[in-house]
Amino acid sequence: MTYKKNPLSPKQAFDALMEGNRRFYSDSLTHTWRVNTERRENLLAGQSPFAAVLGCADSRTPPEHIFDAGLGEVFVVRNAGNLVDPISVGSLEYAVEHTGCPLVCVMGHRHCGAMNATVAAARTPVSSGSPHVDVIIERAMPAVIAARQDRADNPEWADAASLMNVALGCREILRISGIIAKAVGSGSVGLAGLLYDVGTGRLEVIGRYGDIL
Ligand SMILES: [Zn+2]
Repeated sequence: MTYKKNPLSPKQAFDALMEGNRRFYSDSLTHTWRVNTERRENLLAGQSPFAAVLGCADSRTPPEHIFDAGLGEVFVVRNAGNLVDPISVGSLEYAVEHTGCPLVCVMGHRHCGAMNATVAAARTPVSSGSPHVDVIIERAMPAVIAARQDRADNPEWADAASLMNVALGCREILRISGIIAKAVGSGSVGLAGLLYDVGTGRLEVIGRYGDIL
């Protein structure tokens, strides 16, 4: 082992993440104490984050703020729609394998532009005009379809899709990543699905896998 594993158990890491969120939504941030020259210098020896988070690129959803985390505390992977793809999964695997991170989270959010765009594409299937954006919509479409049920005319369809996208994302990570599935199965890593409310700053726990119940 060439890294110093984070000492927290998956459950302790999950509780620390939720506690950080409580500080965030109650306007009691402390992370600036852990964002300074001393911290930067200490981290030159290496990183051992307590959580890895796959989140959306939306500027209203920065994990470091939402979890009141300092430098070296959260390993963050972001793309529009917090989508599970080979690059995001490979990045999470790196956190588990090479930084000894005990917790992996998929964090979606309400009012997500990627989900809104995909709901619009489900209603009227036309290209966005960009092949790159089309890939995002294609990846998000299964969650949007699964969330549809009788919500086709419901303005909350996109939020239901965000929730479904997190649930499916967790399952997809366990399906395609032998590294993460094995770590979760052995109890050394926990996996959590979270839905963030951009208005209240609070999180809803969508799913928990591993020893974080
Ligand atoms: Zn989003």
